[in-house]
Amino acid sequence: MSEKKNRMTLKEAFAATRRGYSILWRVMPEFFPASLAKNALTALSPYIPLYFTARLVNAVAGGGGGKEVWPLLAALLLSTALAGAAQAAASCRANVIEEARSIPARLRLLMEKLLDMDFQDTDDPKTKDLIDQIMENEQWASWGLVKLQYRFDELVEAVLRIAGALALSVSLFTLPVPQGSPLTVLNSPWCLPAMLALMGAAVALSALCYSRAQTFWSALDGSFFNRAFTALCGHAQFNRSASTDIRIYAQDRFLLQKEDDPALDGFGPNSAIGRASRGPRGLLMAASEGVVRTYSGVVYLFVGLKALGGAFGVGSIAQYVGALAGLSKGAADLLSALSDLLKNAEFLQPTFQLLDIPNHMYQGSLTTEKRSDRNYEIEFRDVSFRYPNTDAWALRHVSMKFKVGQRLAVVGENGSGKTTFIKLLCRLYDPTEGVILLNGIDIRKYRYDDYLALFSVVFQDFKLLSQPLGKNVAASEEYDRARAEECLRRAGFGARLDQLPEGLDTCLYRDFDENGVEISGGEAQKIALARVLYQDAPFIVLDEPTAALDPEAEAEVYTKFNDIVEDKTAIYISHRLSSCRFCDEIAVFDGGRVVQQGVHDGLVEPQGKYRSLWEAQAQYYQKREE
Ligand code: ADP
Repeated sequence: MSEKKNRMTLKEAFAATRRGYSILWRVMPEFFPASLAKNALTALSPYIPLYFTARLVNAVAGGGGGKEVWPLLAALLLSTALAGAAQAAASCRANVIEEARSIPARLRLLMEKLLDMDFQDTDDPKTKDLIDQIMENEQWASWGLVKLQYRFDELVEAVLRIAGALALSVSLFTLPVPQGSPLTVLNSPWCLPAMLALMGAAVALSALCYSRAQTFWSALDGSFFNRAFTALCGHAQFNRSASTDIRIYAQDRFLLQKEDDPALDGFGPNSAIGRASRGPRGLLMAASEGVVRTYSGVVYLFVGLKALGGAFGVGSIAQYVGALAGLSKGAADLLSALSDLLKNAEFLQPTFQLLDIPNHMYQGSLTTEKRSDRNYEIEFRDVSFRYPNTDAWALRHVSMKFKVGQRLAVVGENGSGKTTFIKLLCRLYDPTEGVILLNGIDIRKYRYDDYLALFSVVFQDFKLLSQPLGKNVAASEEYDRARAEECLRRAGFGARLDQLPEGLDTCLYRDFDENGVEISGGEAQKIALARVLYQDAPFIVLDEPTAALDPEAEAEVYTKFNDIVEDKTAIYISHRLSSCRFCDEIAVFDGGRVVQQGVHDGLVEPQGKYRSLWEAQAQYYQKREE
């Protein structure tokens, strides 16, 4: 279970809330004017009929003729209709922004930060944990940036509701009960402060009870239950590969049965929150509502007695009662919005911590000359590397040089450092010791984007998107159709392409398009290879994208690819030696070191790591042949 949050001081909470709003202003500026318009109209429009109805009833009760009544009636109808229409239009616009823009804007904020931060930080479990916390806080009770949005709505509405109520209730205190009535005591100048004090006390007490009742929710750490629920039931619905297991073993039922388990902090009727709601939490909620209703009763009494004393007409009773009810509601909403904002401040911390992760990687300014001869040379000079927060060396004293046009194979057992070598080559991480050079210059001195553009990589766990085939190949919205098609044919996807009803425009997968096609693992690989060809980068890296294939099919992919990469430098990674026999150079990794280097024939003869790997794998081929 996650740790309970530390309490913040009021000053810290205000500062956090202010920062939260400035982020919201940056990612969603259109929200603020839309919210202002919607909530101003929501707060003020109920007062319009209240005002005119009071005038109308007073006119009728006072025996006013049609001359007085008809214009008031017309004003009542017209202003009510106009205010209602304007409120509906403003709400409609604001709701679209709040519902439709809010999630993408907040996700985009996280996505941009993740893409912008040093890659090694995206890999850090702490980063993942922050993202999980942000998501959980939101799902749990809309804590975080989204809460600022809801509470801004409430603040605007509450402040304007109070302003409107004050404007309508001033005359309640200024109009005196005529002399001679026993009720002239209500003309006392103490009535206004007494009513306000009473309202303040009622609102504060009600807010206190409400906030106490809410602490049962915030003390309950539902995030763990949410995480377990999302992991299991979320997978059951959305993750096709997990859903089969979950169905067969009925694991979702297992979780649902646990809903009442106190250890899981669930939400079932017999969970902690369920029991509290039948006990102290329920009582606090009742007290919160009861106090406000009692105050309303006192207001009715005061207004009724003043009317009885003859201070104003019967119509005004409705106006004053309505205005004072609006005032107490506005004050209560204001208090609850403010207290919720202060509580929310601690839930904003994961967002701030994520946004504040600094970029440490040095960003050089040299451009990687776009050489027409593509004459690039890469050198690893005594490179060692440890993953952040680990003690073990993933690479140790690696020195290697390769020139453009070469075919380099990196082989070794699982965990020997092959992928780490590629990650350093592509500058996803910087070496802990030693240096990597491009044409004799430290790669850190080049512009990062320029340097990255030298590589096309198919990673082991490459991903294609649920987008049209052509866009997947080009990795872009706009693309050269003839070139995309040519790359697909060169990658061996030609026959399948001819069968696709919409050719390059066929959507991959059915997430967004019911006419999309489901492609096999082998087909996906060919598309990934076509994407590499389309990029036309001078270095191509295949990091065991064929791990799911059997050894012969893998060897076939590699040999075929060898033909189509033409003059580019290709680096192949595999733990199967047979796939890489054709390479100009083979580097054998073992325990993070390059233990042998050479061509297949030279490496297979002497005793060594390559030979022992080869013999272990050769047995497998021999068995198959037998
Ligand atoms: P290979 O590609 O040869 O299977 P890797 O380069 O993936 O090997 O891994 C080399 C070593 O680095 C292994 O001991 C592995 O456990 C460790 N390692 C890989 N990735 C990480 C990571 N993100 N954080 C910490 N250690 C890692």
